[in-house]
Amino acid sequence: MMGRYYLVLIAILVVFAEGCAVSTNPVSGRRRLYGYTWAEERRIGREADQIIVAQYGLYEDSTLTAYVDSLGQVILAHSHLRRPNTPKAFRETPFVFRVLDSPVVNAFALPGGYIYVTRGLLAHLNSEAQLAVVLGHEIAHVAARHASQRAFELQLGQIALLGGAMLGQEVLGVSAENVLQLGGIVAQLLFLKYSRDDERESDRLGVEYAVRAGYDAAEAAAFFHSLKRLSEQHGARLPSFLSTHPDPGEREQTIRMLAARWKQQVGSANQVNQATYYARIEGLVLGDDPRQGYVADGAFYHPTLRFWFPVPADYRVVNQPSQVVLVDREQQAMLVLTLATQPSATEAAQAWAAQEALTILNQGNDHVNGLPAVYVLAEKQASENQTVRVLQYFIEHEERVYSLAGFTQAALYARYEPVFLQVMRGFAPLQDPERLNVQPVRLKIQPATRTAPLHALLPALPEAFTPEAVAIMNQMDLEATVQVGTLLKLPRP
Ligand SMILES: [Zn+2]
Repeated sequence: MMGRYYLVLIAILVVFAEGCAVSTNPVSGRRRLYGYTWAEERRIGREADQIIVAQYGLYEDSTLTAYVDSLGQVILAHSHLRRPNTPKAFRETPFVFRVLDSPVVNAFALPGGYIYVTRGLLAHLNSEAQLAVVLGHEIAHVAARHASQRAFELQLGQIALLGGAMLGQEVLGVSAENVLQLGGIVAQLLFLKYSRDDERESDRLGVEYAVRAGYDAAEAAAFFHSLKRLSEQHGARLPSFLSTHPDPGEREQTIRMLAARWKQQVGSANQVNQATYYARIEGLVLGDDPRQGYVADGAFYHPTLRFWFPVPADYRVVNQPSQVVLVDREQQAMLVLTLATQPSATEAAQAWAAQEALTILNQGNDHVNGLPAVYVLAEKQASENQTVRVLQYFIEHEERVYSLAGFTQAALYARYEPVFLQVMRGFAPLQDPERLNVQPVRLKIQPATRTAPLHALLPALPEAFTPEAVAIMNQMDLEATVQVGTLLKLPRP
């Protein structure tokens, strides 16, 4: 499975692409050419890990994280990276398993031993056995060094092409695609796309590792079926790995077959552990967590950082742990809110204005809703025939300095300035207790009180949760008969 981390990785991998290396594949034991040495892979993983954590944020539940990590370590112990005849460098590479605070259903691995699952994925799994197969699949990508193999192929001639494709889209160092992470398509086409064979190999190895660890890997087939439904659901946030992985229907079949084969070879592998797993994920945050910012009634509220600002009509809001981005419907203008690292608005403005190739048109001090602020209006030549104009407000609020930047082409600036100012001068401390105390929807495990079709057993659902979405989360059909006592995963407002 792969996430939206390509853009992050590109920069890192290109920097690290120093040459290629002949070394061992821990899975096959054969020597071949890789884009990186194992030591380089570990370095890439370490650096990219920091970016992933900053980008997605970690899910703050140390018990759940420890559980995922300990299961990951068990599966790892049964992988090719921990066998007696495996070279020491691989055997001694520690692995880190993290839970990311994202509602998107995803799991992915970075080279060198970093594995991530989202809370969205954990909510959609039905047992420890399913999680074991997913973790096994990701461990396999690292063990078989798939990223490094693809990186080697890339060095054979695509780096120039990639560089061109990426640089062409940059505007002031912040391209809309970069900010919105929509650029994955370009990146995926050219860069580090695991091949279908890589995915099949990871499925095969993932099942093997899970079975060797004693899990009934056939259980995972049902999860792949629910992934398929997730991708078919209208408006669903698509797990990007679906596009690169074999068809979920095919995977479902293959997983069953592989599980049966490995079980025959290894012997007793019957652990499913649904109740254990459900006990671990009970209380998990479902969907977007409003405490980290939400849009309501024409405004963006951030209860944790205690601020709010108006959202202009026709602007789409993309809220990420490291920034909030507003894009107008025509995609001609964009506002980006980030935290400045300087201790005051004045220092932040000075540091920003000192950037190369920036022409300062105007700057001064202001107050927005009682908060000290400094603004800078500047222009930058983005290309031969395009100049970008940026209005930037630095606002001090509760020990932090917020940077709010509005970007558009210089020629369009007059049209967008009123909107930029509406947002920037609308930035204000959040004091409304109702807004401050907003709570996320959480997962509740509840046994069915009677035997009935699933749809008849569903309680009133919180807004943003459809019966179909809850059915998919439970890996059941809405029409399916549920036996009394069956454990159901339900959203609890
Ligand atoms: Zn994969």
